[in-house]
Amino acid sequence: MTTSDAERPRPRLSFTLDLEDHRADRRGPARYEANTHVLLDLFEALGVRLTVFIVAEIAREAPALVREVAARGHEPACHSLAHRPLDQETPERFRRETAEAKAAIEDAAGRTVVGYRAPVFSLTAKTAWAAAELGGLGFEYSSSVLPAASPLYGFPEAPRTPFRWGVGPLELPAPVARFGLSATPFLGGFYLRYLPGFAVRRALRRQPRSACLWSYVHPYDIDATEPFGAVAGAPLWVSLLLWANRAGTRRRLERLVRAVQPEVPLGERVRAGAFADAPTFTPS
Ligand SMILES: [Zn+2]
Repeated sequence: MTTSDAERPRPRLSFTLDLEDHRADRRGPARYEANTHVLLDLFEALGVRLTVFIVAEIAREAPALVREVAARGHEPACHSLAHRPLDQETPERFRRETAEAKAAIEDAAGRTVVGYRAPVFSLTAKTAWAAAELGGLGFEYSSSVLPAASPLYGFPEAPRTPFRWGVGPLELPAPVARFGLSATPFLGGFYLRYLPGFAVRRALRRQPRSACLWSYVHPYDIDATEPFGAVAGAPLWVSLLLWANRAGTRRRLERLVRAVQPEVPLGERVRAGAFADAPTFTPS
């Protein structure tokens, strides 16, 4: 006899938001602020508190928005100073700019920041030096690794469940699942917009028990009326994929919330000791 979906306990999942201005051309009014309000209202109506990874440029440009994120009970976290991938950094500049970013977000939010997410999952075997820097800067966890091969950034040798960097904080890698030829971070961004809902739910049920499940969304993921524009750092075909198929995102997010047991923000899980048994991983 098989267990039906109704009887199976729903997987526990944290929801995260990457707060950034994705446009290559920043002339004209930014749309992230209005889109973020829509998302904050949506998740509040669903009773979900988020971890919000904030690009520090936004903490300077729109400090009231960052203050509001914290005031509404969400966890403010750091998504770099200017969304530059780690392979374009030197350790010295990374240390300086990430310290600056953390301070700017803490100033705007009025809260201590303990979580970090690298732009575009750019923490890989080549940039693993960044983990030690994050530890030195006082971050308690990172959510920066895509533990699979990927056309952009991936770290296929990294564990798929939480681990502690040999020197550095705890890492909560992106949950991945195989669709066709490649393993993808299926719980967020354009994967969540394009993959059929039943396939996402099936992949969720197949995740390892010790995985830390989290989903991610960007303000632009729900912006169905934005005119087409290039996305910073992305080739044209990626910009097109990121632009299309946004109208159903809200409905898909609502369905995902109902398919899982929404968890508290990542920082609260880390601080409550949820991943205290995570093994240490030292990249070779
Ligand atoms: Zn980002």
